[in-house]
Amino acid sequence: MALLQISEPGQSPNPHQRRTAVGIDLGTTHSLVAAVRSGVAECLPDEQGRVILPSAVRYLLDAQGKTRRTIGFEALAAQADDPQNTIVSVKRFMGRSLADVVDASRLPYQFEDQPGMVAVRTVAGVKSPIEVSAEILATLRQRAEDTFNDDLFGAVITVPAYFDDAQRQATKDAAQMAGLNVLRLLNEPTAAAIAYGLDNGSEGLYAIYDLGGGTFDISLLQLSRGVFEVVATGGDSALGGDDIDHTLAEYALAQAKMDASTPQDKRTVLVAARRTKEKLSTDGSAHLSCALSGGMLSVSLTREKLAELVKPLIDKSLASVKRVLRDAKIKANEVKGVIMVGGSTRMPAVREAVGGFFGLTPLTDLNPDEVVALGAGIQANQLAGNNDKGDHLLLDVLPLSLGLETMGGLVERIIPRNTPIPCALAQDFTTFKDGQTALAVHVVQGEREQVEHCRSLARFELRGIPPMAAGAARIRVTFQVDADGLLSVTAREQLSCVEASIVVKPSYGLNDAQVATMLREGFSTAEADMKDRALREARVEAERMLEATRTALAADGDLLSADQRAQIDALMAQVGQRCDWGNLEGLESATKALAHGTEGFAAERMNRGIRQALAGRTIDQV
Ligand code: ADP
Ligand code: MG
Repeated sequence: MALLQISEPGQSPNPHQRRTAVGIDLGTTHSLVAAVRSGVAECLPDEQGRVILPSAVRYLLDAQGKTRRTIGFEALAAQADDPQNTIVSVKRFMGRSLADVVDASRLPYQFEDQPGMVAVRTVAGVKSPIEVSAEILATLRQRAEDTFNDDLFGAVITVPAYFDDAQRQATKDAAQMAGLNVLRLLNEPTAAAIAYGLDNGSEGLYAIYDLGGGTFDISLLQLSRGVFEVVATGGDSALGGDDIDHTLAEYALAQAKMDASTPQDKRTVLVAARRTKEKLSTDGSAHLSCALSGGMLSVSLTREKLAELVKPLIDKSLASVKRVLRDAKIKANEVKGVIMVGGSTRMPAVREAVGGFFGLTPLTDLNPDEVVALGAGIQANQLAGNNDKGDHLLLDVLPLSLGLETMGGLVERIIPRNTPIPCALAQDFTTFKDGQTALAVHVVQGEREQVEHCRSLARFELRGIPPMAAGAARIRVTFQVDADGLLSVTAREQLSCVEASIVVKPSYGLNDAQVATMLREGFSTAEADMKDRALREARVEAERMLEATRTALAADGDLLSADQRAQIDALMAQVGQRCDWGNLEGLESATKALAHGTEGFAAERMNRGIRQALAGRTIDQV
């Protein structure tokens, strides 16, 4: 749809030329790059045909004393020999200070506690996690450029759903350092859901169970009309395939009555354990064998034995799942589907345990260590404007206005459509009733004047407003849309500073046709909408007037004679009637008459108020 094909400033849109865009899963253990080729998302292999790149960077000095670095498998192979200069699992340090790094004392690195973010001293100097991550990203970028023989237009990079701003910013910085144009950061569980095509019409709650090398993440996603909302996340930052390797290695050593005392032996037995573990995901039995300094270690294992050994670890992950469900007040049987992510979910024991817990068969059709990258690749392709179906949205401007519901079911537009993102706009609101302590905020998207014709995005409540007279509270509602299309809405009462907020993904799930319809309806009904809006506003004004009069009568009705009272009651009845008629002029004049007819009463009330305030005080005190 032509209307939405708005390109970034300075970039001339050329709809016929494909733009090469990739998705990158920047993982703790492994990283991958994926792209849509001939309509299908796939992970791109290196020259040796391997799609996985170990997230490892080794810094070293060559014979001339010049610094070099190796990345991926080559770096990993040197880890045992050169642990201080071989940085693995750097994702755990992104955007973190030394104090945030658990187990820092047990890691082989020389940490430098730099302001803002921890760094590691290597032979090549002090390296920040951003630089190390940039090496991994640059390697994948190179792989993609070699594959396509073309410069990259941009990349979607995935991050854990629980990553905070500092961690997200660090990821973006690393991408920039690697020469990548970040189209968007995407939450890993959302990427997995996209890979499974859940953005195409699926509704309901989905769980994403991600058991990787060193971490376990559980996320609950709510899908409605294609909008992904991360309802809850949790997990265990020290639970993953590595723990399984340790358990298996210890078991094998105990069986053979051997031990692995040297660092070299420890690594060797862990590598053998991992190989055996992975084999047992496809085979019923396997041999764990390796040469240690004390002799050959050789133990035979069955899949059942492995399942028994890892049961406590799997149970630990399920305990995290239970906690997240409980916190989100969701029952396991409300979850419609479970997506399995992470290499460790290839283990049949994990699949069975998770399936049993939720009472359904987990989704495992896609390769669990590729699924995040694949989803990111699909999203990158859409953002680059290559979608053949033409149902993509370019998110560099807001496609539809964002606003909120005000009295009378009207929409107050806060950010008009086509505003370039990121952007932030605020507007002040106030309370409608005396003593009102809560305010309902209803966030909507669309061009129409009435709430029921717009798309409802989110609702939340601001509670704890101190009771004040109607109109005295100052509630600032701020709409903020970040470069990743993330809308956050915050409502804050300015005097008491009570605050509430919500985050939504506004543009997901609306395809061009839907946006076109919403825009068309907005334009063609503009005049009718304006009339309707005027009437609704008049109604709100009338209600406000009625409410104020009722309050005044309740408080100071005794100031009025029976006649005066009857007159006011009649005027109020007039307003009430006209409200129902839906005639704009009639309603406006009735409201005006009521305002006029209560002027004397208002003056009497004010006098009484002053008398009360002055009662018992001398002139000096005033
Ligand atoms: P991360 O997201 O943390 O980077 P991955 O999702 O790539 O990690 O998972 C890596 C883990 O998956 C490793 O512990 C690896 O041993 C494990 N793994 C990979 N393949 C298999 C398999 N076939 N069976 C069991 N575990 C596997
Ligand atoms: Mg992962």
